[in-house]
Amino acid sequence: QKDKNPSQLIEQAILACSMSMTETNEYLVVIDEKMRMREERNNKLLNDLTKAIDNNEFKIYYQPKFDIQSNKIIGAEALLRWDHPELGIVEPRDFIPLFEKHGEIVRVDKFVRSAVIKQLSKWKNKYGFVLPISVNVSRADVLDQTFEYSLNVLMDEYDVDRDSLIIEINENSLVDNVNQFASILKRLRSHGYKIELDDFGNGYLSLKILSLVTFDVLKIDGTLLENIENSEKNALFVKIVIGLSKNLDTFVIAEGVETEKQLDFLKEVGCSCAQGFYLSKPLLVNEFEDLIFKKEK
Ligand code: C2E
Ligand code: MG
Ligand code: MG
Repeated sequence: QKDKNPSQLIEQAILACSMSMTETNEYLVVIDEKMRMREERNNKLLNDLTKAIDNNEFKIYYQPKFDIQSNKIIGAEALLRWDHPELGIVEPRDFIPLFEKHGEIVRVDKFVRSAVIKQLSKWKNKYGFVLPISVNVSRADVLDQTFEYSLNVLMDEYDVDRDSLIIEINENSLVDNVNQFASILKRLRSHGYKIELDDFGNGYLSLKILSLVTFDVLKIDGTLLENIENSEKNALFVKIVIGLSKNLDTFVIAEGVETEKQLDFLKEVGCSCAQGFYLSKPLLVNEFEDLIFKKEK
């Protein structure tokens, strides 16, 4: 650390304290250059957020979801990318957890929902129909007091049918405050929204939540499909989730399908829908539009 001036050293000490409390849980944290650069980049992303929303730097991609028996597209998931003027394309894994940690995710998710609802309304007016689009929501977002109200206002303002919007929430978001989530999600369903349980099989969820909350869709996490030819356990878990969804009368979709073998396996075990790079990567809005609406015309 000989090349550092006092203010840089103090900055690193503060970073070490904060990492010790929030990330490593260790008394001793050694800050290396990589960590320092990551911190610098994170601070930049946090500082640039407002500008990014104002300048339309966030781009929404649409990854099609397929009915794998008929090979038809049945909807899509909206996935966010940040087209940063200096850093280039920034992936969600680099900013979603960061914004969740710093309480900024609500602003980002509001932007995404509003953009998707406006897009649904445009498609409805232009083509006379839409396919359901899912948006990802974070834990803090759903717990935000204004979530339900502002969603209803937007949907009404743009005259979009409630069942055209699927709300994807992942397992880990629900682990604490299960009862509170159960009542919020129940209310959202009663308004007509569909709720999809994301990343199922990759979190800490107990089966208890499935008895407390009714989901419209269970989404099997891609990690369960990894190495499916060789891992009897993974194959078994996928079959169990499909059986479970049938018993719960819930729709099931597998995500992260990357190979023909995985797709064949899913067909064989009676999974109706899938999403993944093998079927289609996330698409720009005009690419998705060409695929769906131009073909149907
Ligand atoms: P997710 O909701 O589980 O989304 C699926 C992720 O898997 C996406 O990553 C998608 O691009 C990627 N993916 C799709 N097909 C394949 C495949 O065949 N193989 C593999 N390995 N990956 C595949 P992405 O877009 O980087 O998003 C990562 C996560 O960030 C999402 O996971 C979601 O939890 C979060 N996220 C994305 N957009 C939003 C958003 O608008 N709001 C919130 N709160 N979270 C978002
Ligand atoms: Mg998702
Ligand atoms: Mg997922």
